[in-house]
Amino acid sequence: MVATPDAEALEAPLFHGLFELRTGAAGEALIASNAAAPRTIPDPATGRPLKVASLELSEHGVCPACTRHGAGGYVSFVSDLRLAFACPGCRTLVWLAGA
Ligand SMILES: [Zn+2]
Repeated sequence: MVATPDAEALEAPLFHGLFELRTGAAGEALIASNAAAPRTIPDPATGRPLKVASLELSEHGVCPACTRHGAGGYVSFVSDLRLAFACPGCRTLVWLAGA
């Protein structure tokens, strides 16, 4: 069976595998670190690999896309001022403009 781009997109791990989605004790969606997180993820604009500088879990994040308050994960990159925010609410890696 030939893999189509659509099939690949469906099989792509959530947050590029940088974080895992867990369910908390109260049934809430939580972000957890992934021991098998990749060291690079593709640039959403160019597809060029971006080297991950740090992954940080925050208890008090605010998602820029859905403005949900709560736990989320921030990603920073080497030689790139953008940040990405992993939101358990909209299950998306949201890109933030750099400072
Ligand atoms: Zn969100």
